[in-house]
Amino acid sequence: MARYTGSVCRQCRREGTKLFLKGDRCFSEKCGVEKRAYPPGQHGQGRQRFSDYGIQLREKQKVRRMYGLVEKQFRRTMSHASRMRGLAGENLLVLLERRLDNTVFRLGFATSRAEARQLVRHGHFIVNERKASTPSMLVKPGMTIRLREKSREIARVSGALDALERRSVPNWLEIEKEKFEGTVKSLPTREDITLPIQEQLIVEHYSR
Ligand code: SF4
Repeated sequence: MARYTGSVCRQCRREGTKLFLKGDRCFSEKCGVEKRAYPPGQHGQGRQRFSDYGIQLREKQKVRRMYGLVEKQFRRTMSHASRMRGLAGENLLVLLERRLDNTVFRLGFATSRAEARQLVRHGHFIVNERKASTPSMLVKPGMTIRLREKSREIARVSGALDALERRSVPNWLEIEKEKFEGTVKSLPTREDITLPIQEQLIVEHYSR
């Protein structure tokens, strides 16, 4: 599947907000948005005008990039969300939060979702006593996510856990650092997702 391989800071600058794609760097003065707070490209410093479609598109792209999905995966998640009970926009955000790669990131095993995704892909986690290597797997209440014993020496994992104070673990999750294990206490709710997202614009984008 074609994956974006260009500069990730460029994506934040395009969306005009921090998407926190580069771990520790995002909290430092080296952050691309802090250094150049205007969109990338030759006309980045010119006046930006957006149509209704443009506003909806930018919101969709922002969330898609934040969670590191390609368009096909994001569209599929949106379609799943629309078939669920309740508000499609909220369902979409809850489905994105429940992804295993996002859960690993939220538990503090990684400093970014991209890093969490790679750790999952490389089979470093045990979910409910079984090896799991699918980043898109949806977690459920009661599930346990544990780092394999062999993987506990990985410096970037211990570094991420040490830096956890900077990002609090959301209420729907619980981490036991000494055991390298996290538990899903409940399903995430819209209130647990504190990111500045207007999900209604994404629903409108896909309803066109
Ligand atoms: Fe975005 Fe992080 Fe790069 Fe800043 S450092 S522009 S938040 S990816």
